[in-house]
Amino acid sequence: MKPPPFRYHAPRRLDELLQTIAAVGDGGKILAGGQSLVPMLNLRLARFDDLVDLGRVDELCGVQRHPDRLTVGAGTRDAAIETDPRVADAVPLLTLVTPYIGHFQIRNRGTVGGSIAHADPSAEYPAVARVLDATMTVASASGRRTIAAADFFTGFWSTSMEADEVLVSVDFPVWSGRSGFGVAEFARRHGDFAIAGAVAAVELDADAAIVRCALGLFGVSDIPVRLDAVERTLIGRSAASVDATALGDDALASVEDVTDDSQVPASYRARVAAAMMADAWTMALRNAEEER
Ligand SMILES: Cc1cc2nc3c(=O)[nH]c(=O)nc-3n(C[C@H](O)[C@H](O)[C@H](O)COP(=O)(O)OP(=O)(O)OC[C@H]3O[C@@H](n4cnc5c(N)ncnc54)[C@H](O)[C@@H]3O)c2cc1C
Repeated sequence: MKPPPFRYHAPRRLDELLQTIAAVGDGGKILAGGQSLVPMLNLRLARFDDLVDLGRVDELCGVQRHPDRLTVGAGTRDAAIETDPRVADAVPLLTLVTPYIGHFQIRNRGTVGGSIAHADPSAEYPAVARVLDATMTVASASGRRTIAAADFFTGFWSTSMEADEVLVSVDFPVWSGRSGFGVAEFARRHGDFAIAGAVAAVELDADAAIVRCALGLFGVSDIPVRLDAVERTLIGRSAASVDATALGDDALASVEDVTDDSQVPASYRARVAAAMMADAWTMALRNAEEER
């Protein structure tokens, strides 16, 4: 199918992009990689009079390494994240999750900002943003503000951005020390959105005690889930004393209202998620233990 007719705008500067969005008002929509938006237009699930393409705005593309964080421009393609050694060094979890996003054709077009702004509860980048406490910088014609990941995802495909705001960049904290990261997810076919997935980050001290950890689930709720309460029970324990299977069960016990739909019953999704949490934790721990 073809999309309904629309006017196409392709600004080259961020200020021009913001002015265009303000000018077109409610009938307008930002177009990034188009990997979610265009299918929705083609299937006539959405209709907009004006599409404002951010793909030519250089200011929105690329990554910048700072001592304590990695700034990722919203227009940076998934494929660029997958292969950039600076990303692998600064925020390994971004590198680990990227191959799970669709197929390489999708990652060649899809953008980090598009994924996070679209806020699909089964998507990998929103989960990484939530678990690492990323900060989103958003802008409109009237100014800029930052939003913590904890306040950004508000529901299924919903965020706390206003309609005239553009996601400009995402700051991911850099973990130092003896840290490791893990991801595990289960989908029916490679490239499908996950039925459930988990991400984990852990930092160990010299005696292999847990000094910091962050755990998250995706695909199980309307938003990416952060498991703060479970994390608190792990701090100070020796890594060897943590039973990964029990950790997966604890993770699920703390999730209210696991998503239930006609394809995947909540009870099955919960069991998958618990197993994924156990696997992501085991991977993170192994990676941390290898860091000397
Ligand atoms: C077959 C298939 C499989 C897929 N599998 C996965 C998967 O396993 N995991 C996964 O995470 N994703 C998956 N995707 C989705 C893919 O990752 C999309 O690229 C992503 O969700 C949206 O990014 P985009 O750049 O294509 O954004 P677009 O499709 O262009 O936009 C998506 C939405 O975000 C808004 N938006 C985009 N950029 C901004 C911005 N900077 N500021 C404000 N709003 C913005 C748009 O207005 C639109 O509402 C899949 C897609 C397909 C077609």
